[in-house]
Amino acid sequence: MKIAIAGAGFTGAVLAHKFADNGYSVDVYDSRNHIGGNCCSEIDVETGIIIHKYGPHIFHTDNESVWQFINQFSEFMPYVNRVKTVVDSNVYSLPVNLHTINQFFGKTFSPNEAKSFIKSISDQSIETPETFEQQALKFVGRDLYEAFFKGYTVKQWGIEPDKLPASILKRLPLRFNYNDNYFNHKFQGMPKHGYTAIFEKILDNKKINLRLNNKINSKQSKEYDHIFYTGPIDEWFDHVYGRLGYRTLDFKKEVHDGDYQGCAVMNYGDQGVPYTRISEHKHFSPWNNHDKTIIYKEYSRNCEADDIPYYPIRLVKEKNMLMNYVNLAEKQEGISFLGRLGTYRYLDMDVTIAEALSAADTVVDCISKNKKIPVFFVNPI
Ligand code: UDP
Repeated sequence: MKIAIAGAGFTGAVLAHKFADNGYSVDVYDSRNHIGGNCCSEIDVETGIIIHKYGPHIFHTDNESVWQFINQFSEFMPYVNRVKTVVDSNVYSLPVNLHTINQFFGKTFSPNEAKSFIKSISDQSIETPETFEQQALKFVGRDLYEAFFKGYTVKQWGIEPDKLPASILKRLPLRFNYNDNYFNHKFQGMPKHGYTAIFEKILDNKKINLRLNNKINSKQSKEYDHIFYTGPIDEWFDHVYGRLGYRTLDFKKEVHDGDYQGCAVMNYGDQGVPYTRISEHKHFSPWNNHDKTIIYKEYSRNCEADDIPYYPIRLVKEKNMLMNYVNLAEKQEGISFLGRLGTYRYLDMDVTIAEALSAADTVVDCISKNKKIPVFFVNPI
């Protein structure tokens, strides 16, 4: 069986690894000159600092088998994501926790007092929040919403929060204690030598043939019995129904001496500040020492034809367009669509890996039983 995988990010790499383990040879294509997709890291030549080339990636999961899987390929160093935010010339702790509430309102509330206070200032008349704004007003009330979420979200998404779904904000916790861990997951860490080192190991198998700088086209695709496509689904179909909307990011790099901001990620809630956040990369690997430092100022904007897609927008218009692509895809033979771009969903790294592991098992089973390989392994709608 001749298998091609389009994309060497987590979905493509994990699929290739599992197929190779099961004795299949695979050709892995990627249009870029590196493996790892948007998780790619590289060592900066001038400073030796591990850079997250496409923005911060912190590994966190509750999924024990994913954690075990990824730990085969790297030592993971203890790392807790602690994010700060600058709002109106003050620095606050995120996610919104007891410290944030006390600092913002100039109080010394206990957990119960803070809970009652937030209840008194939040909008309890909203029963089932549908928009980001409703979710925020119900969750923390207007003052905290306008300080921490409104400006940041307009910059990040280019859309007013009353037009965005509540699900985006539901990713963030609200805590009535001093726990400032950005994530609630059981496992969290950073790969000791960066993410690219993980991809090198995942893909290290004689049966895996890497074809970088190479976008698989429909002519080449005929050479294969099956293609696992992890690129943008609309691109595969030459955008016949239009372009699915994404946000892309621009990073402005600066090199400084010493410590620039004292933490890895500093958000900027004010709408007047053009960037959403600044990442200081050496703080992602605090076990290394560097005299110099590199920061990335992060700017979000609409993704144009030649940009790298990051965040799927997934509003009503895009969902309708996605439906057309999904219907078209379902009619195809010899191709499956997977991953963040193939299914047009926001996916954390652990979910991406879990889905790829499960898809690979399904594929191996289908091949052994001579059954049709599914076009989708999850419902993208
Ligand atoms: N968000 C915000 N203010 C912040 C951080 C996040 O308003 O300081 C909102 C924003 O809309 C963002 C969403 O919460 O898209 C989810 O945040 P998360 O940190 O998960 O974003 P990601 O790391 O995926 O960019």
